[in-house]
Amino acid sequence: MISVVDFKREVYSWGDKIRVKPKEIHVRVMKKKWASCSSKGRLTFSYELLNKPKKFRAFVIVHELLHLRYPTHNKMFKILLKTYLSKNGYKVEKI
Ligand SMILES: [Zn+2]
Repeated sequence: MISVVDFKREVYSWGDKIRVKPKEIHVRVMKKKWASCSSKGRLTFSYELLNKPKKFRAFVIVHELLHLRYPTHNKMFKILLKTYLSKNGYKVEKI
């Protein structure tokens, strides 16, 4: 399990790679989702993610950060998600 501080550091470091800067990052208990993104640029992540492997966290973090640029799961969103993850050593079979 990683700490909230380390997790936020991870999010910001991905943000640098993707060149997006979330306004706020929150970690809290979420029942149905791993994360969400507000239209104002606030990202909320499930506390459960702190228990998940690094690869899993990367998928959720990059997904959510990309929503700061693309609100929907359009073609560009999917291409970039795959690109950023594979460029950083995370093999993506299917999203
Ligand atoms: Zn999404």
